Amino acid sequence: MPLAPTVAVIGGGQLARMMAEPAAALGIPLRLLAEAPGVSAAQVIADHEVGDYTDLTTLRLVTDGCAAVTFDHEHVPTEHLHALEADGIAVRPGPEALVHAQDKGVMRAALADLGIPCPRNAIVETPAEVDDFGYPCVLKTTRGGYDGKGVWFVTSEEDAVDVFAQTADTGVRILAEELVDFRRELSALVARSPSGQVAAWPVVASEQRDGICREVIAPAPDLDPDLAVQAQQIAMTVAGELGVVGVLAVELFETTDGRVLVNELAMRPHNTGHWTQDGSVTSQFENHLRAVLDLPLGAPDARAPWTVMVNILAGEGAGRLYDGYPHALARDPRIRVHLYGKGLRPGRKVGHVNAYGDDLDDCLERARHAAAWFAGELGDESE
Ligand code: ADP
Repeated sequence: MPLAPTVAVIGGGQLARMMAEPAAALGIPLRLLAEAPGVSAAQVIADHEVGDYTDLTTLRLVTDGCAAVTFDHEHVPTEHLHALEADGIAVRPGPEALVHAQDKGVMRAALADLGIPCPRNAIVETPAEVDDFGYPCVLKTTRGGYDGKGVWFVTSEEDAVDVFAQTADTGVRILAEELVDFRRELSALVARSPSGQVAAWPVVASEQRDGICREVIAPAPDLDPDLAVQAQQIAMTVAGELGVVGVLAVELFETTDGRVLVNELAMRPHNTGHWTQDGSVTSQFENHLRAVLDLPLGAPDARAPWTVMVNILAGEGAGRLYDGYPHALARDPRIRVHLYGKGLRPGRKVGHVNAYGDDLDDCLERARHAAAWFAGELGDESE
């Protein structure tokens, strides 16, 4: 008999890998379904199978005997999640909630019903309908996009024709959104347990470049306290009304005229919450696991006035990663480094660093320097 209930995790990326750390501390066994041998999480979770998450037999094999199943990504087919529920496994988050993170069209409709502020949007079926919607606008595939893939900024019918041509074979619906004039992007992160307890971390500012999250500052500097409360309330409302279990990240635009609009939902630990590993009393990974098992949640309070997270993207040249440790760790004994054990394909997220302290500029400088060093962007002048 295991000493604690086993949690199955579907998907072997860095999020599953980072769940393993609090799981080990709490004595909670994890069982992983990895998409290939040796992927990020398979390196650290001994109890793993390699297989296809779209295959129900494989999902049943991995979840057999587990108390609950949770996810590194949102791509497991909804009908399989229903089947696992019928088998008696607690699916967390459950299929009814998860569909809102899988399909942007479903998400927009649900948020409209809840009266949550969103960019003006409509499902469009032809370039002529995009014309009617108006330019400039943003077209998005409702399913399957990530890191800016499946998002197009369009200014003319010609652009719209192009997008429909590119997506014609996929059968995926297209969502049109107004081009939001935003000051910056914010993220409101909460964890919710099945009993309804909610922990809300401070609202953060995230910087995205080419659709990829590069930096996060916690808390968002100079954020109007009313907007911060509004952002947290949106996240708590969405989590409660959609029945989310585990971490919910609500990505928001802070508009130039001082409003917050919801961009996206993610129902799993999120890149904008990686700062919590070192910057808050309880990390998003720990509270995700606690929520999945319906344990009391830990405090989301910040440990320091500022925490900065900077992603390490593999460089065009060879990144340094482990070879960077002698320099990066000696230069800054307070820097916190998280590497994912991933191959160095250029542009890929391979790790992140966190720096926390009393002075924001100092945290920014330290985290940016360390990330740039690992990514191989700095020369040897600072050695
Ligand atoms: P993904 O699912 O790939 O993360 P997002 O919907 O988050 O895609 O869009 C990626 C990025 O594109 C956002 O972080 C934001 O910078 C920009 N973006 C998305 N929607 C809009 C919009 N309606 N107006 C302006 N910029 C947008």
